[in-house]
This record gives sequence, C-alpha cells and structure tokens, in this order.
Amino acid sequence: MNNQDCIFCRIASKDIQANLVEETEHSLAFWDISPRQPIHILVIPKRHHANILELTINAPDELVDLMRLGTRIASEKSSGSFRLSFNTGAEAGQTVFHAHGHLTSRTPKDQLA
Ligand code: AMP
Ligand code: ZN
Repeated sequence: MNNQDCIFCRIASKDIQANLVEETEHSLAFWDISPRQPIHILVIPKRHHANILELTINAPDELVDLMRLGTRIASEKSSGSFRLSFNTGAEAGQTVFHAHGHLTSRTPKDQLA
C-alpha cells in the first residue's frame, strides 16, 4: 500500500529522516520542514491514503488514531488554542498527496509561564 514515490510514506518507513514528535501504531507526528507558526507539526497515517476524505472512508480506525495523536500533542504543546487542518485537493493548497493534518498554534505552552 505504501509507495516509494511518496515522501510521507518514506518518512513513515524511516527511509527519510524527519524531526519526529511522537508515534502510535497507526500514526506519526513530525515537525513541518518550513513552519508557518511557532508550533507547526504534521500528523499522518503510516499507511498511504491520498487525503483526509479517503482516510475517513477507507480506514476510520486510523483516522481516530490520528485525531487522538494530533489533539494529544496539541494539549501537550499549546496553550489549548490550536488548529488541526487538512488541505484537500490542489486548489485547497494540498501539495503532498498523503493525508496529513497541520497542527498549528501561535501560543506554545512553554512561552506562557
Ligand atoms: P500541504 O501543502 O497541506 O500538502 O502540506 C505539505 C506540508 O509538508 C508543507 O507544510 C511542507 O512544508 C511539509 N513538508 C514537505 N516535505 C517535508 C518533509 N520532508 N519534512 C517535513 N515536512 C515536510
Ligand atoms: Zn504516502
């Protein structure tokens, strides 16, 4: 199911290095290579699905696992204000066609003390 032409499949199989945050049985979280906010982490299913729609239809258990991981990291790393968003389709800005959520926040927990 996974393929060598997909950069996120290659990150999931540890063939390409990424700055890993956490992983579960089905999902992986790593820092975005060009962050747009102080927290900018990507959460992906380890298996290849082209986008969030296909992930939802074809593997709802993997979807739940991904959402659990994304929201857990959001609670750990942000003040509680964050976005978890899924660009879907080229016209919506999707450039990597392996489902991924952008976890972004302007208020990291460690800057609030
Ligand atoms: P999207 O435009 O929604 O498809 O998002 C793709 C994201 O993947 C962008 O924010 C890129 O900065 C990020 N990205 C691309 N290649 C890598 C990589 N090797 N490691 C980490 N993030 C990456
Ligand atoms: Zn892939």
